[in-house]
Amino acid sequence: MPRELYIVGNWKMYKTAREAADYIAQLEPRVRNCKGKIYLAVPFTSIASAARAAKGSNISIGAQNVHDAREGAFTGEISSLMLKEAGAEFVILGHSERRTLFGETDFTIREKVVRALQDDLQPILCVGETLEERSGAGAQEVLKRQIHACLAGIPTEDVERVVLAYEPIWAIGTGKTASPKMAQESHAYCRLVVAELLGKKIAEHMSILYGGSVKPENGGSLTAQKDIDGVLVGGASLDPEAFAEIAHNCESKQ
Ligand code: PEP
Repeated sequence: MPRELYIVGNWKMYKTAREAADYIAQLEPRVRNCKGKIYLAVPFTSIASAARAAKGSNISIGAQNVHDAREGAFTGEISSLMLKEAGAEFVILGHSERRTLFGETDFTIREKVVRALQDDLQPILCVGETLEERSGAGAQEVLKRQIHACLAGIPTEDVERVVLAYEPIWAIGTGKTASPKMAQESHAYCRLVVAELLGKKIAEHMSILYGGSVKPENGGSLTAQKDIDGVLVGGASLDPEAFAEIAHNCESKQ
C-alpha cells in the first residue's frame, strides 16, 4: 500500500454509543472534503453506532484493542471477528496505555498484529520511548526493539497493510509535543529500522503517524515533515471541530 495521509482520533474511554453518533453527525460535514483518511478509534460499545452514523462517508471506524485468539474462554476480551461485525475496519495496537497500565508486552502485541492482519482489520501499531529512555542513549534502541519484536517475520503481503504510529510516551496527554524536527528524526529512524528489517520498498510505502499532544496549532507543521504521514490524536479528537481543523491543517502534506 502506498503512503497516505491519515488523521486518526483515539477516543480512549470516552463517549457512549449515543454520543458517538452525535459526534459523527457534527464531524462529517466538516471533513467531507478532506483528502486524508479520517479514522476514529472508539470504545467497543460505540463501534456499531459510530459505524452506522459514518456509513457512506469518508470516516472509518476502528477499535483500540483486540484479543489475539479468534474465540475462546477469555472473560472480558473481544475478538477481531466481533469487531469486524460491529463495523470496525482497523485497530490501534500497542498503545502506551495498554503497555503500561495493562501489562501488554511486545510479544502479545505482535500476536495481536498477526491476528488483526489475518482477519482483515488494519493494525495501527504504536511504538515510542519514555522520557527516561529518551534522555539516556536508549530511545532508538527502544524503537528498534519494538519494531523488530512486533513486525519481524510477518509476510510482505500482510505487513504492507500495517500503519506505524510513533508516539513518544512523554508527549501523550501532557501538552508537550515533540518539535517537528525531533519528530522527523524519530520517524526517519523508524523508517530506517523498517527498511533494514523488511526491505526498502515496504519502508518507503509504510505510513508512519506522529502522536502526542497534537492540536490544530501543531498538526500541519508535523505532517509537513518528510517522514510524517499523518497524526494520531487523543484529547483533541474528542471535539469534532478541533479534530476537523487538525485534518484540514494537515492537508498540505498531499
Ligand atoms: C494518544 O492517546 O494516542 C495521544 C496521542 O493522546 P494525546 O493526543 O492526548 O496526547
